[in-house]
Amino acid sequence: YSWTNLFLYFWAPSVKGLRIFLTFWAPGTQCVAKCDSRKAKPGELVYHKGDILTIVDTSTKKGFYIARHNSSAEEGLINSNNVREREALRVDPSLSLMPWFHGKISGQAAVGKLQPAEDGLFLVRESIRHPGDYVLCVSFSNEVFHYRVIYQDNKLTIDNKQYFYNLIDMIEFYSKNKGSLTTTLMKPRKKQGAKSAEQELSKTGWLLDITKLTLGENIGEGEFGAVYQGEYMGQMVAVKTIKCDVTAQAFMQETAVMTKLQHKNLVRLLGVILHKGLHIVTELMTKGNLVNFLRTRGRSVVNSAHLLRFALDVCEGMEYLESKKMVHRDLAARNVLISDESVAKVSDFGLAKVDSKELDKAKLPVKWTAPEALRKEKFSTKSDVWSYGVLLWEIFAYGRQPYPKMTLKEVKEKVEGGYRMEAPEDCPPNVYSIMKLCWEQEPRKRPGFSKLREKLEQELSRMSPNSSEGPPRFVQSALCFF
Ligand code: ADP
Repeated sequence: YSWTNLFLYFWAPSVKGLRIFLTFWAPGTQCVAKCDSRKAKPGELVYHKGDILTIVDTSTKKGFYIARHNSSAEEGLINSNNVREREALRVDPSLSLMPWFHGKISGQAAVGKLQPAEDGLFLVRESIRHPGDYVLCVSFSNEVFHYRVIYQDNKLTIDNKQYFYNLIDMIEFYSKNKGSLTTTLMKPRKKQGAKSAEQELSKTGWLLDITKLTLGENIGEGEFGAVYQGEYMGQMVAVKTIKCDVTAQAFMQETAVMTKLQHKNLVRLLGVILHKGLHIVTELMTKGNLVNFLRTRGRSVVNSAHLLRFALDVCEGMEYLESKKMVHRDLAARNVLISDESVAKVSDFGLAKVDSKELDKAKLPVKWTAPEALRKEKFSTKSDVWSYGVLLWEIFAYGRQPYPKMTLKEVKEKVEGGYRMEAPEDCPPNVYSIMKLCWEQEPRKRPGFSKLREKLEQELSRMSPNSSEGPPRFVQSALCFF
């Protein structure tokens, strides 16, 4: 267990043979209230069943915590028996942001599905006669109305008055406004087998409230949408916005994976907002990605011990992923972000999957991908270890592009033939030896992440033999520069 979801069970004295466990939650743990708080005394927090609370601290009162209410932002004491830790979302392909979308079915079939008639019961289908066009079908006064959705200038419209980015956006609008329809949409007819992502997110406590979010400036461009800085109930957050509904749906899986993974060296998911698509809300990593961090500061500011700390941080995050049998598949310095306290955390679980099927070969980051993964799509923790070796090189090269001046084709061929990068300038020899271990041709000869961590820890203590915790983090020693 990581410290964030650390459950330390302590024996309490047994009462008449009854074993009582006390749970200890680390600050930052998100909990769901199991019941209403009754007759809150002064200093105690008021909450209702289903509310999400964040543990702020342990209290001196046994079995009590100090918690912050995620909606009211108030803080107070809570009894640990009245809350449970927020559950992970099950990674389930039937989890759908558009459970009302039935794919290609005929108008007649749609009418059949909207029986028994109910005002406002609706579904969306893809037109058979006009492939690619959508039709919104809604039941009203025992009749089914079919509205053709036209795709125009990258937007969707029914009446050339209201335009939408995507179907999710459109359904959201017509659920609140009648517009040109005969009725507002009231109840989705779910496709058989589809599970509403919205309901599941809400049930498990991961659905956040858009009205509590203040969006700030743009801080990055992802492949699928912009990343903004923001504030959610007093906490600085990063918000990844995904407008395309198909991509948003694909990201639901990423999100579900993230709800399961919590560690101090993984970028933490705070929750999601469903509004005009998907907003993924994570902790804000104020110092941006590791590549830019190193490039903009350079050798005069960041020393080898700081670099090793970042390497160790990433290694611990990966060790945790390994323990969860997860393979990242896109580990690289660009996907490592730096917190305000200069802690490095692994981000971007877009490709992380429990198994290694479904893959777009053209998108593989060749310079970071292990030879067996490029050749046979054999992804494993050991292929992550290979990528980790490249990341280690990037760190000690202060954010340089690996295999400088080589084309992707050259890299593929040469690496397959046994070529390996030289050590970056001034790289400690022991660190270079670790890189080479990660680049063993045979995956099974590469060390696992726990072994790598041990080696890095040894190296770190060699660099600062007098400190049990190693050298101070970058932020403390180099604060004067910023
Ligand atoms: P993609 O994986 O689609 O390329 P990323 O998630 O890597 O998108 O985000 C792109 C950029 O946005 C990152 O390189 C980083 O600079 C910034 N960014 C992403 N998430 C955060 C965050 N939690 N805190 C701060 N900056 C972030």
